[in-house]
Order: sequence, then structure tokens, then C-alpha cells
Amino acid sequence: MFEPYELQKKLVAAAMPSGYERPCGEAIAEIVRPFADEVWFTPTGSLVCHKKGEGKRLMFAAHMDVIGFMATFVSEGGFISFTTIGGHSAAALIHAAVRFQNGTRGIIKLRRQSDKVETPASSVTAKDLYIDIGATSKEEAEKMVKVGDLAMFDTVPRLIGSDCMMTPYADDLASCATLIMAMEQVKSSPNDLYFVFTVQEELGLKGAITATANIEPYMGIAIDLCYSGDEYSAAMEMPVRTGHGPTIKIKDASVVCSPEAIAFMRQAAEEAGIKYQDEIIIAGGTDTSAMMHTGKGALAGCMSLSGRNIHSPCEIVSLNDMKNGARLLAACAQKKL
Ligand SMILES: [Zn+2]
Repeated sequence: MFEPYELQKKLVAAAMPSGYERPCGEAIAEIVRPFADEVWFTPTGSLVCHKKGEGKRLMFAAHMDVIGFMATFVSEGGFISFTTIGGHSAAALIHAAVRFQNGTRGIIKLRRQSDKVETPASSVTAKDLYIDIGATSKEEAEKMVKVGDLAMFDTVPRLIGSDCMMTPYADDLASCATLIMAMEQVKSSPNDLYFVFTVQEELGLKGAITATANIEPYMGIAIDLCYSGDEYSAAMEMPVRTGHGPTIKIKDASVVCSPEAIAFMRQAAEEAGIKYQDEIIIAGGTDTSAMMHTGKGALAGCMSLSGRNIHSPCEIVSLNDMKNGARLLAACAQKKL
């Protein structure tokens, strides 16, 4: 049986920002090949794993792209300006450690005050930030980083507490790991199953759109992170809590899930005796929306892992939520549509 922490370490090691997902796709393909009849990449790079069945097409989608940074300019002093890939909270990036593709390490700093953060957090934008790679001249810096080079958070998965993992890119690699664990559990199914690891979700659900157009599912189920009601947030009062089970989404900012998909997922959970949480989040979107509205359209739902510190270098998810999430996805896969 796959272990969530071990899988997360493998996926984080292969992860790349949106648009450059191929290494992660290859790593996943290697792991899941025994559980699929055929495995292929769409033209834009989403990994499709088909487990053939007689019934209706059921598509699962977890995105394998992650948020990151791209160098845009090297200053005379050897500092690196950058643009963001995917949604970042600029204030949360101050003093985040990053690593470029070639291994060059650096730290993100605030342009206006290098040693103290007095600027109101809400006013900080990516333009106020730069990366210090320890170079002392433009010439030295350019030997290490060139315009167009990609960088990512320089953190690694760690176990914390009794049931949690602190990791970069739980969004959405923890969901990819959960989907892989589900694939391992599906022995046979009356449905025609497609397990898809999508690209460019963070840039607007792009990989799910093209994968859905290829597959034309009857029902789509996305797997992603949602926020946690554990965290202090005036704007996001919600009952979902980390470690209290996978969620079945009812609504987020991008989609009202199909009542049929919600009912199907709830029934699957209840029949398998899996505790789940009802999820409504007021911000954020997932591949659910892309599966629902692409081509002729499909019934669509979503299972989430409740995470803390989403889109930070240290996101926190529960290992038990991942294990029970995998059970829930496997139950859905094996339940006749
Ligand atoms: Zn996500």
C-alpha cells in the first residue's frame, strides 16, 4: 500500500511550475502504470490513465502543476526580479527560500525595506519583491540565473503533529498522491475510468479543459485542496477542519457542483462507511468547473483535502484525510454510474 508521505516526497521532487509539468507527469506515469490499461499524455501534457470498463465514463482530475516564479531581470547588483506563475500572496512570500531549476538557491526580499517589514502586508505586490541569490555583481548572478529561469519554494515535506504533513505544493500534489492511492485500491469497476493528472490548473484550469474535451466524461470529480475553518479568518467562516475527513464540495467561487454528483459521492461515502465533511468555500476554483462546462458538459463534483497555509511554502494537510480521501475516490470509482 502506498503511503501518503512517501508519495508526496516523490512528487515534490519531480514537481515543476505550470507549463513545465512533464517531469512530474513522467514520475506519476511510472508509479501508476500497473493500475491502468493505457497511459498517455494530451498534447498540452495532462497525463491520462484509462482503466477500461463497460459503463459510463467517469473522470477524476487532480492537477500536477504547482505555483512558482520566473526570472525577468538581473540587476547591476546581482539581484533577480521575477514574475509569478499562478496565484501568490505577495506578502506571504517575504523571506521565502526559493530554488532555481539548476539548484541555485536564494531568498525573496522586499524591495522597499530589506531588513524590516513595515509596509502594510496588503499593499505588497510581486513588483515590490526580488530574489537575492548571494551574487555581488550582475556578471556573477548571470552565471547562475538567466532571464526565463524557473524557481520554486525551497522546502521539503516533513511530518508534523500526530497526523499532519507540512509540505510545499500539497496543492495539489497531495491530491495527486491521494488519487494514486485510490487507483491502487480499484480492482474492478462497472464504469469506464479515467484518472487524469492535469496541467496548468493554476493558470485557469487549462489542462482540465483539453483533457475533458478528449474524454467527454459523463461525470467528472476533481480533487483539490480547500481552506480550513481551523484558521483565523474573518472572511472565511467555514465548518470544514483539517483532519476531520475528506470533503464533498457543494460550491466554490467557480462552480455550483451538480446535485447528482454530490448525491453520488455522498452515497459512495456512506456505503463504504467513510466520514466526510460538507464543503462550501467562498473563494477559489478547481478543475470541477472545467469538467462541467467543457464541450457538451458533464455532471461534476469535487473532493477536497482541507489544508492550512494554502499557496505558501509550508502547506499543512492531514495524512488521515488523504487515506480516507483515497478510500472515498475508490468507492466512487467502483460505484455504478
Ligand atoms: Zn489546487
